[in-house]
Amino acid sequence: MTYLTHLECSLCGKLHPATEPQNLCTACGKPLLARYDLKALAQVWNKAILADRREDMWRYREILPVTDLENIVSLGETMTPLLRAKRLGDALNLKLLWIKDESRLPTGAFKARGLAMAVSKAKEFGLTELAIPSAGNAATALSVYAARAGMRAHIFMPKDAPSFNAKTTQLAGAQVELVDGLITDAGRIVAERKEQEGWFDVSTLKEPYRVEGKKTMGLELAEQLGWRLPDVIIYPTGGGTGIVGMWKAFEELERLGWIGSKRPRMVSVQSTGCAPIVKAFHEGNSEAEFWENASTIAAGLRVPKAIGDFLILNALRQSGGTAVAVSDAEILNAMSELASSEGILSCPEGAATVAGLKTLLDRQMIEPDGEVVLFNTGGFAVYSEHNS
Ligand SMILES: *Cc1c(COP(=O)(O)O)cnc(C)c1O
Repeated sequence: MTYLTHLECSLCGKLHPATEPQNLCTACGKPLLARYDLKALAQVWNKAILADRREDMWRYREILPVTDLENIVSLGETMTPLLRAKRLGDALNLKLLWIKDESRLPTGAFKARGLAMAVSKAKEFGLTELAIPSAGNAATALSVYAARAGMRAHIFMPKDAPSFNAKTTQLAGAQVELVDGLITDAGRIVAERKEQEGWFDVSTLKEPYRVEGKKTMGLELAEQLGWRLPDVIIYPTGGGTGIVGMWKAFEELERLGWIGSKRPRMVSVQSTGCAPIVKAFHEGNSEAEFWENASTIAAGLRVPKAIGDFLILNALRQSGGTAVAVSDAEILNAMSELASSEGILSCPEGAATVAGLKTLLDRQMIEPDGEVVLFNTGGFAVYSEHNS
């Protein structure tokens, strides 16, 4: 049973009911976050209860938003492996390196976590027409979960999104429109048309439950490390929902008394071809500016403006973390390094974390005896030449 109580604006704090579909805060237009009765849950929940549960993301159902488990739309969102990367760690002179390999999830990328949750909640609310602007992998994830739920998916993505995404969304029977522009242009089209078309907008962080799905990355990581956290987490950041979700996971776990107050330093990696968060971080700004002419082979990082930018920047700063940009050449090099040293066939986004780690080690911003977790957010299969 869920302990979900309501939604709260991440900026102004205005409360919104969780009993009906919601998008942004009706007062200030910022993202809403799900809140749970953690005090009550702490009285009855314990780690032993989890031991008997299936190893998938729904094992944390008390702090996930689905009310009736019958509404869960699942393709088997397995707990992803936390792989010790000893050979790569040794090569980099780093004591303890882990890679959380999200490529095992349905669709081959971690976007499945968020869209499984959003589609399950859509089912709970009786919604049937879902629209999404996407850089690529979110489109694929929505299209398969919508198909599984018998809903219609309306996809808007850049015309030069990876061909994997254009093909898979079509296979899954979604209505696909390729946009002459980027995810932000796609988002504008959805916002303009949704009311008239009767679509529910599941844009990340405009829809409050995708981040709850991504939160499970942080819950799993803590559980896999025996309810403690590493020194550093390096995450390839586009819309930033993964960072925001993990940060939220750690806060909830602390409130439940399952972990202490120590947090990992959270590090965002972006591409030098699209690095709005890196720029804002180093300029000391609380929000990011729109990044002109965004371009990178890491399609998931091609997000020129993120609606949750202030939340990402807060998490980086509160954690004592940082943000770093790496070039496409460094990413390609890191892809072959990951595959040849650890046998991990990663997407460019995942490899970007290796390139980011090397940069931070070079700058002596990570100690050689530290414990570092990299997120490989998808497999090599999602990496393909662009569509047109
Ligand atoms: C979307 C995506 C990202 C960026 O994730 P955010 O949580 O939106 O920052 C990283 N890697 C891949 C493979 C993606 O599809």
